Amino acid sequence: MQLPTPQHIAAIVPYPPGKPMDELEREYGITNAIKLASNENSWGPSPKAVAAIESMLHNLHRYPDGSSHYLTEAVARWIGASPEEIVLGNGSNEMIEFLVKAFVGTGDMVITSHPSFLMYQKFVQVRGGVNVVIPLKDMRHDLDAITSAITDRTRLIFLDNPNNPTGTLISKKQFDHFLANLPESVIVVIDEAYVDFVDPDQRLDILGSIRNPDGIAAVVSLRTFSKAFGLAGLRVGFGVMHREVAALLHRVRQPFNVNLPAQAGALAALGDEEHYYATLRGTAEGRTWLSKTVAGLGCRPYPSHTNFFLIDVSGSATRLYEAMLHKGVIVRPMAAYGYPECIRITVGTAAENQRFVTALGECLRDLGYGHG
Ligand SMILES: *Cc1c(COP(=O)(O)O)cnc(C)c1O
Repeated sequence: MQLPTPQHIAAIVPYPPGKPMDELEREYGITNAIKLASNENSWGPSPKAVAAIESMLHNLHRYPDGSSHYLTEAVARWIGASPEEIVLGNGSNEMIEFLVKAFVGTGDMVITSHPSFLMYQKFVQVRGGVNVVIPLKDMRHDLDAITSAITDRTRLIFLDNPNNPTGTLISKKQFDHFLANLPESVIVVIDEAYVDFVDPDQRLDILGSIRNPDGIAAVVSLRTFSKAFGLAGLRVGFGVMHREVAALLHRVRQPFNVNLPAQAGALAALGDEEHYYATLRGTAEGRTWLSKTVAGLGCRPYPSHTNFFLIDVSGSATRLYEAMLHKGVIVRPMAAYGYPECIRITVGTAAENQRFVTALGECLRDLGYGHG
């Protein structure tokens, strides 16, 4: 077939999602697979969200509220912002897309770190923008190198904070210093997909930053219902930003980008504090237990401020990943992110964590890694 595909589109390598559980079960003829590969919420969605979605289903013949009025108000209240400072997306991934659509034209530059979330660069490629990729330094965003890489074509800087996959944080002091040295003409996007898991004392002052005085770069925070709220399948995220930035993003979005069940489910999830805090507690407990236990198996766990962390297994992580698949446990091998001897695992329920550790111990022994 001869398709009129522009070169910058043909060059895009599709995003590799974590292996779905039913695919693994089909391919390997196993049952009861567990997936600790995509940083999802192992405790499931809020029961209140499920009930709200069910009660909404008989309305599916109607378009949703294009302004997502109630959800926007509830999100704004939760964040302490005003509704004009909030834009909702079909997942926070769509917020990334809106930002690139609104601010990046052909040949404009966007700075990202490597490794970090892969989707930033993909959306930039779609727009024919230029990705400027700065390596992490000691597993952290190298803010000085990023500042030095800015040119008059730089439009956006994406910083996932905490970083995925390393789980590291930018300190408030580092961030203030960084902002103070940026030109006013760039937009700093802080992807806070995992901020719910971060100690409140260590979070950045997003509201202070978005209401910046003149002369300082605009800051946008991205948040999601996919992780701590357990609604990854529903696709809802949002951005917190200056109202002038929000007004621009509303111009590039579809009128009904957040669907009817998504608006209802996310609204109910915001009202279910019990589920939210139980997830945060379970994650913190599971992370501590897993780190201690995998260290006991001779692996090196990295500290993390999120619901996932890296584990150095002292051997090919890709081979370990394959061996774990045969035991029905899906993790992420990190060779593609530049850590060939690390896997990334999501903290699961106590039963999932136990199952992971058992499978890990067996695979380390079978492969002859470390002290296993
Ligand atoms: C999981 C994740 C997201 C969430 O994306 P959604 O589209 O909201 O599901 C965003 N950023 C990072 C870095 C993530 O790891």
